[in-house]
Amino acid sequence: MSITANIQDIQQELQPLGVTLVTISKTKPNEDILEAYEAGQRIFGENLVQELVDKYEALPKDIEWHLVGHLQTNKVKYIAPFIALIESVDSLKLLKEIDKHAKKNNRVIDCLLQIDISLEETKFGLDHVEVIELLESQEYTELHNIRIRGLMGIATNTDNQKEIKEDFYELKMLFDGIKTSYFRTESSFDTLSMGMSSDYTIAIEQGSNMVRLGSTIFGTRTIKHFKAK
Ligand SMILES: *Cc1c(COP(=O)(O)O)cnc(C)c1O
Repeated sequence: MSITANIQDIQQELQPLGVTLVTISKTKPNEDILEAYEAGQRIFGENLVQELVDKYEALPKDIEWHLVGHLQTNKVKYIAPFIALIESVDSLKLLKEIDKHAKKNNRVIDCLLQIDISLEETKFGLDHVEVIELLESQEYTELHNIRIRGLMGIATNTDNQKEIKEDFYELKMLFDGIKTSYFRTESSFDTLSMGMSSDYTIAIEQGSNMVRLGSTIFGTRTIKHFKAK
């Protein structure tokens, strides 16, 4: 299957459901991204700042770029001028830094709070207590150049469908609770980003309205092997 056909198939599946496709293009060359672009795709996601900046500079300017990987505070400045959505906000410190650079660029930057829903220790993200603490903090109320659009989460990396379903269910419950408690009057809190190539159908069943698909569109990535020291 070609990238063009993959985009068309997936969009045909997602659009009637009102689910937004973020095409995850990490490690993929610009010509692959351009093929997806020619097929009509405009939203792309990357997980590394340097790669994201390089691709932003080289590719059409009407692409909406999302950052989906961990963001270090000292790198916010490189993406602040153009980023459409930072999906991986995992601390108040980072949110404050994004606000600072958004202000410098005279814009408001849309963000998702990344929630740690998986059972693994390795994933980034806020837990339930931390997300509430963030939203109730005085410092958060003083940030005017960021806008929290919703939540993002990554399910446990497992073949156990029941466990994946529970992870997504939990995130949807948290999303609904936070929306009711903190964003009742703000219609812009509307995005629940959950689901990747292996689990997006389960995610959509559980209420996702944004999926992040890489290998479904571009084929599998070459995995880099790191030797443990
Ligand atoms: C790589 C990545 C994806 C896409 O993964 P696929 O399995 O290729 O669909 C989605 N979300 C995040 C945060 C990623 O890092």
